[in-house]
Amino acid sequence: MLSEYITNKILCQAKKLDSCVIGKVMTFQMWKWGTERKGNRNKIGTLPEPPDSNSLSSDESIMHVLPLQSGIIYGIVRSRRLKSSLGINLSPTDQKLCSFNCVYCHYGCTEILTDSVIRYEERFPTPKQVEDALRERLQTTTEIPLYITFSGNGEPSMHTEFVEIVDRVIQVKNDLVPEVKTAILSNSSTAHIPEIRDAILKLDTPIMKLDAGDVSTFRQVNRPARGVHYDKLTEALAGMAGITIQTCLFTGSVSNSEEPHIASWIAQIARIDPREVQVYTVDRPPADSGIQPVPPERLAGIVERATLATGIPVRLFGPRQV
Ligand code: SF4
Repeated sequence: MLSEYITNKILCQAKKLDSCVIGKVMTFQMWKWGTERKGNRNKIGTLPEPPDSNSLSSDESIMHVLPLQSGIIYGIVRSRRLKSSLGINLSPTDQKLCSFNCVYCHYGCTEILTDSVIRYEERFPTPKQVEDALRERLQTTTEIPLYITFSGNGEPSMHTEFVEIVDRVIQVKNDLVPEVKTAILSNSSTAHIPEIRDAILKLDTPIMKLDAGDVSTFRQVNRPARGVHYDKLTEALAGMAGITIQTCLFTGSVSNSEEPHIASWIAQIARIDPREVQVYTVDRPPADSGIQPVPPERLAGIVERATLATGIPVRLFGPRQV
């Protein structure tokens, strides 16, 4: 298990070196080595959890496609969907930890893939640290954002004290900037846990990820930790009223935008019945360098088809303005 985890880290590093001239020969050799060692693992698309968080130190040499957020509060981010958003990062800042390892993630490969953060708890901020950081930022800022958004370096709702943090953030917001809305960009992997679901639904705009209409595509695209189950996730989303679904569509070495994918995705959207669906494609370097954006005309066609089939507003978001 340890050797597979190290292989994952090396593969992540190799892909990030792909655009580097010096790195190309090394990338191929590392890929070949890793492919031979990992055998059939890619057919399932999941990666093992590390055996022991303390046995592997942070690897300074791993370059992230985008650097990880370095603190609790970040931004204001100019967001395609939320316009101006003050970000809250509840995840570690030295390694990417998430319950997914999405092929398109702009933070690169997930170094710690897990659906349980208990053994990493000391690396997460406390509820008081989050409250203090937000209060200080809002008291000193010259620009008021439209949203305060839980997002950051991984899945925010994996924090073991997420419920308390949501309450504290809402309280600070109501004290200082009551007109600002709250949001979360969630990968939906915790939505089946009743207290997490209820905390997410306290937020004004819960935006929940669904990139696939079937379990096979889900595993290829999101490459979840082994404790995350597609059926449980979609059932939980179907039980959440008033949510927004976010879907990243792409093509290339892995695709979720061809005909069988779209038909099953539309069926899931109809079943979940969200308030709105937000569709976009990759516009930043992805974790897997073989991922390509979907052409705008094809995206527009998918959006129109989904809207007609479900009667739910499906909105297309183009490349972000730099
Ligand atoms: S859920 Fe978000 S942070 Fe986690 S791997 Fe996917 S895109 Fe990256």
